[in-house]
Amino acid sequence: MSARRHATDIAVIGAGPAGLFAVFEAGMVKLRCHVIDSLEAVGGQLAALYPEKPIFDIPGFPRIDAQEVVDRLVEQARPFAPVYHLDQQVERLAREDGGFLLTTSKGTEVHARAVIVAAGAGAFGPNRPPLDGLADYEGKSVFYLVRRREDFRGKRVVIAGGGDSAVDWAISLSEIAARVMVVHRRAKFRAAPESEVRLAALAKEGRVELVTPYQLDALEGKAGQLAAVRVKDLDGGTRRLEADALLPFFGLAASLGPIADWGLGLDGHHVAVDPATCGTSIPGVYAIGDLAAYPGKLKLILTGFAEAALAAHAAYDFLNPDQPLHFQYSTSQGVPGA
Ligand SMILES: Cc1cc2nc3c(=O)[nH]c(=O)nc-3n(C[C@H](O)[C@H](O)[C@H](O)COP(=O)(O)OP(=O)(O)OC[C@H]3O[C@@H](n4cnc5c(N)ncnc54)[C@H](O)[C@@H]3O)c2cc1C
Repeated sequence: MSARRHATDIAVIGAGPAGLFAVFEAGMVKLRCHVIDSLEAVGGQLAALYPEKPIFDIPGFPRIDAQEVVDRLVEQARPFAPVYHLDQQVERLAREDGGFLLTTSKGTEVHARAVIVAAGAGAFGPNRPPLDGLADYEGKSVFYLVRRREDFRGKRVVIAGGGDSAVDWAISLSEIAARVMVVHRRAKFRAAPESEVRLAALAKEGRVELVTPYQLDALEGKAGQLAAVRVKDLDGGTRRLEADALLPFFGLAASLGPIADWGLGLDGHHVAVDPATCGTSIPGVYAIGDLAAYPGKLKLILTGFAEAALAAHAAYDFLNPDQPLHFQYSTSQGVPGA
């Protein structure tokens, strides 16, 4: 077998909360997993979109930051030694040798006896503003999400957008940034009413500058480091905002991409599953988390956790038709291998 070809019991597509917990649940029924994600880090939406936001509806945790949920899921899965293939999208899912062969955008091949697709809304990316030379600045001084709030301490930050992310981060960064400017093409924002009130108060105190109605026009800088952001209004008026960083918050576009071609019985942007097993139209392929649809589905992290357990048990039955699972609580069996 080549270095890029692997064999495992279950291939998990997507390392969001549902996929990570599927590794644990599969481990508890003695099935090993390889996990593939198109993002560079595990955690799905929690790590990519809102790592520092507190979540209030994870059972047993009255309040927990999203990144901490991810870290704990990784820790919980660790005894089962999952193999992660990150920064690569699963492009192909084909039947092979009684199982499935997954091929990624980096050429990695994973042969699995069963597959759990936990791909959320699909591989997602930010809506990018149409600015010349934007790519040179991305990841250096233009960011589509705030991974570490502290990185903006003492910086002059331009935030673009009028929704919750733009308003929430303007409020938050006003506490530590040297200057926060919010560029929005309308005078009215589209955020939670209490956040809008807070933003208006900060603007009045001079702690945030509202640059409205303007939109982004051009970037100035060198070697990826911004010096200024140029903005324009609808009448052709322009302004130059000296800045160290630009945070465009224009939402995300998610695309199921190749998943739509795998014959999984798509229902719009979702995969229709049997809610008792999370089985798809292909025997041996399960879908869980935000991707999976059935009547009454609640798109919540906790729903994905329960579906991970259902899919792991169903996969066990599928792979061991002659050996019924002897169901045991974790309190009885412990964590095998831990
Ligand atoms: C701002 C915000 C706040 C939220 N707050 C809450 C909350 O308080 N409580 C709550 O329960 N839920 C909340 N949610 C929703 C929650 O984040 C989702 O329900 C959850 O992330 C779904 O988990 P998942 O594992 O199904 O998918 P995701 O987290 O979307 O992860 C899917 C992963 O699959 C990967 N992927 C997709 N296609 C491929 C492919 N072809 N190859 C490789 N990888 C692929 C993606 O890159 C992604 O990493 C919130 C969401 C947002 C955006």
